[in-house]
Amino acid sequence: MIKLKTDKHEYAYFLYAITKSFFKDAPIVPPDKASHNMLPDDEGENEDLIECFFDDESLFKLTVKSGNILPESEDREWEIDASLDEEERKYARLGFVYDFLCEYTGIKLPWGNLTGIRPTKLYLNKLIELQMEKDGNDYLFDEDTISVAKKYMAETFRVSEEKGSLSLSIASREQGLMKSLHSDDGYSLYIGIPFCPSTCLYCSFTSYPIFKYRKIVPEYLECLKKEMAEAVKLMDGKILDTIYIGGGTPTSLSAEELDVLLSAVTEIMPLDHLKEFTVEAGRPDSITIDKLKVMKKYPVNRISVNPQTMNDKTLQAIGRAHTVAQYVDVFKLAREEGFDNINTDIILGLKGEDVSDVEYTLNRLKELNPDSLTVHSLAIKRASRLKLEMDLNGTDDFRNEFDFEKAMGLASKAASDMGMNPYYLYRQKDMGGNLENTGFARDGKYGLYNILMMEEVQSIYAVGAGTVTKRVYGNGRIERCDAVKDVKMYTDNIEDMIDRKRKLFAD
Ligand code: SF4
Repeated sequence: MIKLKTDKHEYAYFLYAITKSFFKDAPIVPPDKASHNMLPDDEGENEDLIECFFDDESLFKLTVKSGNILPESEDREWEIDASLDEEERKYARLGFVYDFLCEYTGIKLPWGNLTGIRPTKLYLNKLIELQMEKDGNDYLFDEDTISVAKKYMAETFRVSEEKGSLSLSIASREQGLMKSLHSDDGYSLYIGIPFCPSTCLYCSFTSYPIFKYRKIVPEYLECLKKEMAEAVKLMDGKILDTIYIGGGTPTSLSAEELDVLLSAVTEIMPLDHLKEFTVEAGRPDSITIDKLKVMKKYPVNRISVNPQTMNDKTLQAIGRAHTVAQYVDVFKLAREEGFDNINTDIILGLKGEDVSDVEYTLNRLKELNPDSLTVHSLAIKRASRLKLEMDLNGTDDFRNEFDFEKAMGLASKAASDMGMNPYYLYRQKDMGGNLENTGFARDGKYGLYNILMMEEVQSIYAVGAGTVTKRVYGNGRIERCDAVKDVKMYTDNIEDMIDRKRKLFAD
């Protein structure tokens, strides 16, 4: 177990996340708020310890005490340039920690010392800052600006050449796409349907088996209607840019229930300026011709049909109650019904798969030619069945055997072969290979909601159990309101759920 200590609690998360990235399999004890003043004398003999002294303005100190995991004890000190401002000093310290851990372990991380989930947001802000200083333009970034931003990010956060180029191309593309949307004077609507046909092994989302919850669906839909009616009042004067129905699996609803939902959305919400209406149908085992026809009756213009892998053996092992053949049939059916913007999700690093399985999946997908491809690196979440099973069986992390970089390279190449560009990216805690999730799409088929959500430039009004509403202020300030996850608690307390959003959007 590696214990962490620091004299400044604001660095605690960074210290934890970066140590976890270098020592993936080691249990890490995060710095404790109460232990600010460091190093009590009662440290155990074999305890591994990393502690960082940030408090001195001009000196940064790091101590490593070797126990069972850390091989060597070390003491380091770095002087901090007195001319740096507070933010620069902070980045310098993070850089020292990162450089030390690289040297100590012989490992370099593709995202350097960036530990947040939205690296492209940092790139975008830097590009805007540089270009605005130069010519007052906030979205047409010239070569010089791009190269200065890249150098700054590489030096400050130690991001690799490859990830730097990827982030910059995504940030530039996103900014161009966002120009057609409304940030301060617009919003998007998210509708959460927290039901699924069965629970996938790796799932940590709010998802309940539909067969157990069937009876509560009508009441749940009534609550969504109430929430939407209130959203229209609270967002009066703002333009609704996009709608995203996600979950869970929205097509867990019956065709009739889906009809009730979509007809309510189109009756209640102002759709005059709507640019995108996504239904993340998701699981092929929940999609029928009737449901596709229902979606086509309404202005749904983007759907997602997700296999995650094109290998039947893996699908069974991860608890998805559908086959590859079912996925192919549903995909073709959706095309026949006229859906010309179909996204498909895959996951890299699934249990039992190696890079050749991913290659096979990508080749099969190329035959279907989806309009966008979202590539996830498997993250093992605390709330998932997978994590529970691994803990119970004491199994090692099977992802250690998987070559994520190679698989991600193959996925990027396949996306490019299908004429797609990377257009959004995010990271999660404990991601396989310390990489990222990337969305690729062809021109004209980019998922706008995904960009808005990732870059946090527009308020998202979310309705349903387990959803998160975000109010984004013009100055970048963001406030959130989380809905309860339990469906029964949600329906029983719907007035309270609505009232919390009234407060969030008051004034
Ligand atoms: S389909 Fe998605 S939300 Fe449903 S159980 Fe699987 S991972 Fe979870």
